[in-house]
Amino acid sequence: MSKRDYYEILGVSRTVTEVELKSSFRKLAMQHHPDRNPGDVQAEIKFKEINEAYQVLSDSQKRALYDRHGHAAFEQGGGGGGNPDFSDFMSDIFDSFFGEKGARGGPRAANGRERGADLRYNLEIGLEDAFTGKNASIRVPTSVSCEACSGTGANPGSKTRLCPTCGGHGRVRANQGFFSVERTCPTCNGRGEVIDDPCKNCQGAGRVTRERTLSVNIPAGVEDGTRIRLAGEGEAGLRGGPAGDLYIFLSIKPHAIFQRDGADLFCRVPIGLVSAALGGEIEVPTLSGEQARVKVPEGTQTGKQFRLKGKGMSVLRSREVGDLYIQVVIETPQKLTARQRELLEEFERESSHSNHPETAGFFGRVKDFLGGLGGTA
Ligand SMILES: [Zn+2]
Ligand SMILES: [Zn+2]
Repeated sequence: MSKRDYYEILGVSRTVTEVELKSSFRKLAMQHHPDRNPGDVQAEIKFKEINEAYQVLSDSQKRALYDRHGHAAFEQGGGGGGNPDFSDFMSDIFDSFFGEKGARGGPRAANGRERGADLRYNLEIGLEDAFTGKNASIRVPTSVSCEACSGTGANPGSKTRLCPTCGGHGRVRANQGFFSVERTCPTCNGRGEVIDDPCKNCQGAGRVTRERTLSVNIPAGVEDGTRIRLAGEGEAGLRGGPAGDLYIFLSIKPHAIFQRDGADLFCRVPIGLVSAALGGEIEVPTLSGEQARVKVPEGTQTGKQFRLKGKGMSVLRSREVGDLYIQVVIETPQKLTARQRELLEEFERESSHSNHPETAGFFGRVKDFLGGLGGTA
């Protein structure tokens, strides 16, 4: 099985700088992220490939080894060198998206404490909710620290033993080709101790799954894709480690009447041919539910826009408000009665070029165009 070149996978040259490498990685990782491609196995494989390539090329030592020896540098020793486990790099990707890495300590401290994973919750709201803001109640299945054993995983009153494999470090060193790597201890899974008498409530995991109800404050003016972070509401940590964070990813349902563009709203309103020709006032809806009135001047054409100042969306964390644009669309009458037809035919007989300057102008230009063609032939 031949492996693809790491530089090729990331679409960069062999002389790529660290900055360019990172930017190319981010772009590709975003594109092939499993969250964006649910159920797409190809994307998942691609995502792993991209990550593996980046793990090597972003580390100057590994990159030098790779430049000299190619994949052979990492293929000895078996047992998956250079192929970190999926959940680890999922969290790396999460960090690289959101830049949270600096905010937390290492995922696993020397005392075996482990920070809980960050969780993602997708919440769909209506445009009206985004307009006014709201307090949403969500139910999140998440793991919480086991109460029976206080998260230790050991039966209350029982003792744990220092792990004989890693001597309590939680990590073991293994030789992988040209360098040695540190791996999570397989005996104790990194906790540094062995539980002989596991807690009955959590089967030794230290965490149990619960469904929790959380209240999320959605501020007015949120946009599609807005992310709300609830610190400490993610998965429980292990052995006294801090909990992860919960990220609420908001998406806004398409509205039946209004389209949004940033702070502005757009609404297409059909009006009759006669109203457009004679002019008048029309009633239009606004997102707050109130009706507004728009003066349509006589001779209004399709596509004409009217601005209602301050009737658009609220702007997040600001007092500004966008505008509402009403675009009129002239509706040609259909299913005419004999009498209506007669009236329109009479109107047509009475009308002249000055009633339809656009039409007259257009056919004038067509005539010139065709005449021009004849001249050059
Ligand atoms: Zn161990
Ligand atoms: Zn327990």
